[in-house]
Amino acid sequence: MGRMSSGPPPDLAVHPCQTLCAWSGTGERRAGKRLFACSGCGSEWVVGQGWTPADADGTVAAEVRAELDGQ
Ligand SMILES: [Zn+2]
Repeated sequence: MGRMSSGPPPDLAVHPCQTLCAWSGTGERRAGKRLFACSGCGSEWVVGQGWTPADADGTVAAEVRAELDGQ
């Protein structure tokens, strides 16, 4: 991962995404950012991780897009 200068990395679970993946906001915050979770594989994501979570069909959830637009 590239950018290490913006504070300690959040402790996120990351698993290989499966065909069931669907991302949504959890209502929680991690490292001061909205925490998103995948209901398919249990991965977690906050904005600024250098990758974008996509649902099983390849689309990026509207909530995730909004978070990316707002960073
Ligand atoms: Zn997943």
